Amino acid sequence: MTLPALELPATLNYIGLFLTLECNLNCSYCINDPEQAGQRNRLFPIQAQSVRKSLTPDEWALALGRIPFRADLPITLQGGEPMLYWGGRGLGLILSCTEHYFDLLTNFALKPEVFTRNLLGQQKKLQRDAPYPSIRVSYHADEMNRSWANRGFAELVDRCESLRDYGFRVSPVKANSDVGIYMVEHPENSVTQDMMAAYTGRVPFETKEFLGVHDGLLYGHYLYPFSTDLMLRGIHDMPLRCECRTTELLIDPLGFVWGCHYYLYHRWSDGGPVREFAELEKVEYRYRERGENIFLGQAMAPVGHLLDPDFSIDALSEFRLCEQYGHCIGCDTKVKNDRFQSFYDRGVPHTSVQMRNIEMPEKLLSLLDERDRVRPLFKVAEKEDSHAS
Ligand code: SF4
Ligand code: SF4
Repeated sequence: MTLPALELPATLNYIGLFLTLECNLNCSYCINDPEQAGQRNRLFPIQAQSVRKSLTPDEWALALGRIPFRADLPITLQGGEPMLYWGGRGLGLILSCTEHYFDLLTNFALKPEVFTRNLLGQQKKLQRDAPYPSIRVSYHADEMNRSWANRGFAELVDRCESLRDYGFRVSPVKANSDVGIYMVEHPENSVTQDMMAAYTGRVPFETKEFLGVHDGLLYGHYLYPFSTDLMLRGIHDMPLRCECRTTELLIDPLGFVWGCHYYLYHRWSDGGPVREFAELEKVEYRYRERGENIFLGQAMAPVGHLLDPDFSIDALSEFRLCEQYGHCIGCDTKVKNDRFQSFYDRGVPHTSVQMRNIEMPEKLLSLLDERDRVRPLFKVAEKEDSHAS
C-alpha cells in the first residue's frame, strides 16, 4: 500500500516527529509541560506497551514515505525521548524504511553501543551536510547528575565522543560533527570550569535560550507579546482569541498533525488522542471526512492525520480561529531564523506560527513599549473580554 505523495511548499520550515512523549528524565523546565511546573512525569507517564500510544515502525514507513525527500529538510525526531520509541528498538526500523535524512533531539538515554546497535547500520541517515550537528544532545544537570552518579556532563561527553567508534563524525567543530551538546540557559543552569574542561577539544557545546517564565520573569524574545506569559505571569485572567497558522509539520506519536506545539502538548498531557485514534483506524484514517465528528466538541483538534490519503500540506496554511492565545509555547512564537537564516541575513524575523487579528484588550496594548510595531497584529477588542461568554 502507498499513499499519495505530499507537496511540500518552500515555506515549510521544519518537520518535527514526536516519536513518543515519554521520557526517562523529569526536567523542571521541560517544555512539554505547558506550565513548566516540574510535573512532567505525572503528565506523561511511561505506560505499559499494551496501551497503543504510537504508530508501528511499518506505519511510520508508510506515513513518512509520502513526504518527498529533500536534502535540506530533515525529519527531526524528538519527544519526549525518541530513543525510547518502540522499546528502544524503533529508530533503526524507521530509518531503514525511508530515504530521508533525520535529525535527532535526544538526552542520550541509551548507552552508545545499544543506541548504535538499534540503528541497524543506518548511521548515514543521521549524517548530512549541515552547519550544525544532526544529533543534538541536551544536557540537563540536575536530572543527569541524579541518573549518572553525579557525573552527568562527563558521562554525556563520553557517550557523544564514543559515537566515533560507530561510524559517526565527532569533532569539536560543530560543522564537522554529527553530534553536539546543548544546554538550556535556564537561570539555575551554568557552565562550570569542569564542564569546559570536559568538552573542550572533544565535542561541540553550546547553550540555547531558555524560553519560559521563572520566578515571575519572562525569558526569551517573542514576536507576539504576552503569547507565552499572559496567564503564567498573571497579566490577564484568560487567554485571548486570534487567527493562527503554522509553518511547520508537527506530527504526534499516533500520526496526528497539529497546528502548534501547545495543542499537541496539551492533548498529550491529557493522555493523548488514544480513543480518537482507535476510531480513526476503523475508518482507514479518513480524518478529512470523519475527523470533525471524531473530535466533536474539542476546541483543540488536530489539523489532519498523516495516514489519511486525503491529507494535504494545504491544511497547514489555513488561518484557524484559536482561543488560547497566551498559552502559546515559546518555540512557536519566539523570534528566530527560518532555515534560510532570514533574521541574521535580512533582518526578517521568523516565527513557527503566524498570527493575525489578535483580540487584545486596549488595557493590555497600553502596557506595550512597541505599540506601533505590533498594532497591525491586533484587532483591538471593541469591548474588553467580549468573547468571555
Ligand atoms: S530530557 Fe527533554 S523531554 Fe525529557 S524531561 Fe528533560 S527537557 Fe523534557
Ligand atoms: S495562538 Fe498560540 S495556542 Fe493558539 S494556535 Fe497559535 S500558537 Fe497555538
